[in-house]
Amino acid sequence: MSTPRTARASVLERFNAPLTVREYPLPRELEAGAALVKTEMAGICGTDVHLWKGELPITLPVILGHETVGRIEQLGPGLEIDWSGQPLRIGDRVAWTSATSCGKCYFCAEKRQPTRCPHRRAYGIGYRCDQPPHFLGGYAEYHYLRPGVNVFRLPDDLDTAFVVGAGCALVTAIHGIERTGIEWQDTVLVQGAGPVGISALAIAKTSGASKVIVIGGPASRLEMARRFGADHVIDIDKVREPAARIDAVRGLTGGYGADAVLECVGQPAAVAEGMEMCRDGGRYLVLGHYCDAGPTALNPHVITRKQLRVIGSWSSEPRHMKAAIEFLQATRDLFPFDQMVSHRFNVDRCNEALATTAAWNCAKSVIVP
Ligand SMILES: [Zn+2]
Ligand SMILES: [Zn+2]
Repeated sequence: MSTPRTARASVLERFNAPLTVREYPLPRELEAGAALVKTEMAGICGTDVHLWKGELPITLPVILGHETVGRIEQLGPGLEIDWSGQPLRIGDRVAWTSATSCGKCYFCAEKRQPTRCPHRRAYGIGYRCDQPPHFLGGYAEYHYLRPGVNVFRLPDDLDTAFVVGAGCALVTAIHGIERTGIEWQDTVLVQGAGPVGISALAIAKTSGASKVIVIGGPASRLEMARRFGADHVIDIDKVREPAARIDAVRGLTGGYGADAVLECVGQPAAVAEGMEMCRDGGRYLVLGHYCDAGPTALNPHVITRKQLRVIGSWSSEPRHMKAAIEFLQATRDLFPFDQMVSHRFNVDRCNEALATTAAWNCAKSVIVP
């Protein structure tokens, strides 16, 4: 097996314009602690659509893709074990965290909020690709892993489609639910049936919840929620008025509202609606607003009167990825995350892949170089 001198990538050069296939040289020598990986599958996250539209402040050109699995092609000097301490070898199938925190700053070292480290830059988002080592995003034949990367060797019995199907949604949901806490016999309401909502549902089901209700749409996503064990689903295309949805939730929770409500929608209006679906003294997690979708009318009196705990959670830490891999391996007969992968495209067809995701009707598109 010899590494080619160049490889291809699909590049975002201008916002709202088609991606361009470019060929870049692969690195000849690896830095200490770095790795070169041959891409096996790269997920397309909803965030990629927002990035493509220019809704987040990034510097172009960029190779998108921050949920990737690949096989190690070359290891730089000193990179001998993965994040969990397992030995790493050429040919190993690996995943990695999209961003790496510095471990030394005020947020990392003192306040233990490493996801808010100001030195974090994410693959597929924060690196220009017109400078070496070029390959710092998933929509490409190869991926360069920089020194300090949090890399995880994947268990042989865990299919790649499970890992990419779960994608950044699962680690995001694990982090958010860790901050919220689900107690035994809790009733949990998940707002949103996209990848984050489905992941939150799976974690709630295994955290002792007595009942998990999912509100969302379209019907195909709710069907997926049922496959993941949702006890009740509420279709926003059928129950169109917020007041009717709040009534429906109260009807399913003895008139009280849910113990924990997990917002996985990303639409500001969902927050005010979701707080009304919380029982008094309940918890409300705002998880879906990774992109700034703007302000919304909110009555703070509801938070006071209901004695709500309102929680935010941003991205995830390496330990959440370790937990996600173990969770996927242990629950693969229960939660068909591999079925989330519904559309496969090669590097030349990244535009179609993005457009499919942008239409919000498919479960998940992936790039298979
Ligand atoms: Zn993502
Ligand atoms: Zn830091």
